[in-house]
Amino acid sequence: MAVAVAAAAQDKIDLDTLYRIKQEAIQNSKVMDNLFYLTDVHGPRLAGSPRYKTGADWAIKTLKEWGIDNARTETWGEFGKGWENKKYSVAMTEPAYMPLIGAPQAWTASTEGVITSEAMIAPLRTEEDLAKWKGKLAGKIVLVDQPREIALHEKADGSRYTDAQLAEIAMAQLSPMFRRMQAPGQPPINFVQMMAFRRKLNDFLRDEKVGLVISNGRGDFGTYFTSNGGSRNPKDPQSPPTIAVTAEHYNRMYRLLEKQIPVKIEAEIKNEWYEPDVNNFNIVGEIPGTGKHKDEIVMIGGHFDTWHAGTGATDNSAGSAVMMEVMRILKKLNIKLDRTVRIGLWDAEEEGLLGSRGYVTKHFADRTNMKTLPEWDKLSAYYNVDNGGGKIRGIYLQGNEMCRPIFEQWLAAFKDLGVTTVTARNTSGTDHQSFDAVGLPGFQFIQEPLEYDTRTHHTNMDVYDRVPREDMIQMATIVTSLVVQTANREEKLPRKPKPEPRPAGGFGGF
Ligand SMILES: [Zn+2]
Repeated sequence: MAVAVAAAAQDKIDLDTLYRIKQEAIQNSKVMDNLFYLTDVHGPRLAGSPRYKTGADWAIKTLKEWGIDNARTETWGEFGKGWENKKYSVAMTEPAYMPLIGAPQAWTASTEGVITSEAMIAPLRTEEDLAKWKGKLAGKIVLVDQPREIALHEKADGSRYTDAQLAEIAMAQLSPMFRRMQAPGQPPINFVQMMAFRRKLNDFLRDEKVGLVISNGRGDFGTYFTSNGGSRNPKDPQSPPTIAVTAEHYNRMYRLLEKQIPVKIEAEIKNEWYEPDVNNFNIVGEIPGTGKHKDEIVMIGGHFDTWHAGTGATDNSAGSAVMMEVMRILKKLNIKLDRTVRIGLWDAEEEGLLGSRGYVTKHFADRTNMKTLPEWDKLSAYYNVDNGGGKIRGIYLQGNEMCRPIFEQWLAAFKDLGVTTVTARNTSGTDHQSFDAVGLPGFQFIQEPLEYDTRTHHTNMDVYDRVPREDMIQMATIVTSLVVQTANREEKLPRKPKPEPRPAGGFGGF
């Protein structure tokens, strides 16, 4: 029992400080101001694009104004070509005028000025399809996907966790987590084969000099999901002009064409390309610790890059805005911090956690050989926000059971704010994994799902209005408090055993 009591004493929550944090976070909140600048003014921020750079200038200037030390860019490596959409004007003009809700896929080419042509359906799913259509697509505007049935939204698009769902998340996972990539009754997707065919298809469409490829974007109700449609590798040729449009518009054109009714389209797309920069960068800044552990570090962060169709509000301007707000509150209240607190806003998460991985390799350890650097011994914990604008309901331990009693005690102070769940489970898909991969305590929070999967994550509707203010204030309050507890704890947070080296995988890169 002696050990437990000692742990309990050391992990007592500092209620006076918590009170001050809550007051500042609620009454003087700047979190939605941050979000406004990151979305309406400086969104979207595709990695490697000029807008990523101007957004970073704003973030650094703002952190400096708040008195954050050493707010600056820090290079992590080479990303490839930059790309930005400068014009999108696509409409069906016959049999009736209908502007198409859509956007180009990232890293695809511009159209040759304004093009006007009849659209055609050209299903291109197999090698035989390619052979069949060879020589027939020059200058054509082609619909390459199947139409998609649009179901009634009987369930609300947005949701918050019920107690039962949180209880489920709290239960340990006994089998390794895997994402269900296979539709029921369908053969499993072979990604290697799929990628190889996609490359062949791109080459085919380029060689055919197709005018414009129209794909049926995932989503409905005018919402469509975007990603990349071509390569940013300077060695690769450009992919043909390709857009994703909302399913309802796609389906209309498809039905007309199936009935042999001509569909005429006028399109002009201008995408700008930028030479590869070897100095792609993250944003960092810190508040130096003043105690006996001032050479040790607590880190917070989230990715700063976004996709390009919306303004990247929930993914991940929300996380960036919250983490900036945490730094502002800490500095404004002049909270005594034993350890140094550092913020990292990461580049190129969307292309495979590239910015955070580069940072971790430069500062902590190379996961391919697990050779550690001095800062590896100095980091207590890294906290990440990147699951949308929904408030925090708990934390994923990433299997680090040793941290459970600590977080349970710290988070108990936030029951009234809805934080109830500490789970041993892993969550994946964002930058805490870069830390976790080298044996550092890296955590992502359990956040309310809201409309993240249904409406905002990587869509044209990922915009400011989809982020609730109260949720953002709650996040800033809780992360600030956890940071203070972590910075002032007698010991660093416990770690899992140091992992074995892992060979560099195909994840990320080009
Ligand atoms: Zn994200």
